[in-house]
Amino acid sequence: MEAGENCCVKVAVHVRPLIADEKLQGCKDCVTVVPGKHQVQIGTHSFTFDHVYGSTGSPSSVMFEECIAPLVDGLFQGYNATVLAYGQTGSGKTYTMGTGFKDGYQTGVIPQVMNVLFNKIETLKHQTEFQLHVSFIEILKEEVLDLLEPPCMSKQETANGHVGKVTVPGKPPIQIRETSNGVITLAGSTETSVSTLKEMAACLDQGSLSRATGSTNMNNQSSRSHAIFTITLEQMRKSSHAISSEGSLNNAMNEEYLCAKLHLVDLAGSERAKRTGSDGQRFKEGVHINKGLLALGNVISALGDEKKRKEVVHVPYRDSKLTRLLQDSLGGNSRTVMIACISPADINAEETLNTLKYANRAR
Ligand code: ADP
Ligand code: MG
Repeated sequence: MEAGENCCVKVAVHVRPLIADEKLQGCKDCVTVVPGKHQVQIGTHSFTFDHVYGSTGSPSSVMFEECIAPLVDGLFQGYNATVLAYGQTGSGKTYTMGTGFKDGYQTGVIPQVMNVLFNKIETLKHQTEFQLHVSFIEILKEEVLDLLEPPCMSKQETANGHVGKVTVPGKPPIQIRETSNGVITLAGSTETSVSTLKEMAACLDQGSLSRATGSTNMNNQSSRSHAIFTITLEQMRKSSHAISSEGSLNNAMNEEYLCAKLHLVDLAGSERAKRTGSDGQRFKEGVHINKGLLALGNVISALGDEKKRKEVVHVPYRDSKLTRLLQDSLGGNSRTVMIACISPADINAEETLNTLKYANRAR
């Protein structure tokens, strides 16, 4: 059986090249990609995934075509979808997703999604009315923060030393809610209506810039938060048979309404607290981040069991804010791609192995 066939979550591994810093430290490449076999090897361990992209010879456009473009197509058919970038800090999650401000801007997943989305809308707009909304939030310490709130609310150092947003007096915290038909909504976050690629790109830029980061031993741009860029596509499709031979609109015209969303998630670093020398405040954040990643692993693994056993199993969406927020876009009819990002450097071998094991559970 092909890897991933019969699974609701597709897993792709992305091995970034050795970066300058690793080369300076004399790191060796310890990860082998077996060409044509979707296999990745580290030490004596070998794993097979749906897709494996090595550091040479596979431009990001190949991964996009194989893994992400089908999700964008699905959006137009009304299917929700989620793309998750998982991996230790420094493994290339932000680069892969394109959530770094002006970094990997052309090649990141999100900029490519935006291009394809607007091209497709352009070809369909004569028969379909479209409305697009964007939200960009992050989850830090089990708290949902708005990355698109108006610029007047600048960041400030809070009493506990954490760089946070100024809380507007009387403004309630963002809440994750579920409607009676199972749709998850975010009450209190900014939903920006966009009609052009430029407007959507401006949202990505604004949010990426304001994303909370803190320095750790590993990487001073380290992210301890999950960043979630969500595109909601609403369509009002006019059925073609509704137009009479004279071209005038028929009274019995049918209209089909579809709404679907695509979550593009740059997850928090998966490394264990000890590796980042965490203590005190930072450690508390680490614990919470693990909560989200732990819950995500359990949800994805439960979804896999459900598919295998063909029976309803308990899927623990409520165990974290992350899984609660993604609930209507993970499992069911929705499509999910997890991109496991890894560094090829031998100093990261232990974390790389952890990432591959985590990703392997998703299959
Ligand atoms: P993370 O978000 O997982 O912490 P980053 O995306 O910030 O990791 O990547 C860490 C470093 O590696 C950055 O300097 C980034 O530019 C570089 N990098 C990541 N992926 C690639 C890639 N595919 N090609 C070249 N450089 C990359
Ligand atoms: Mg990052």
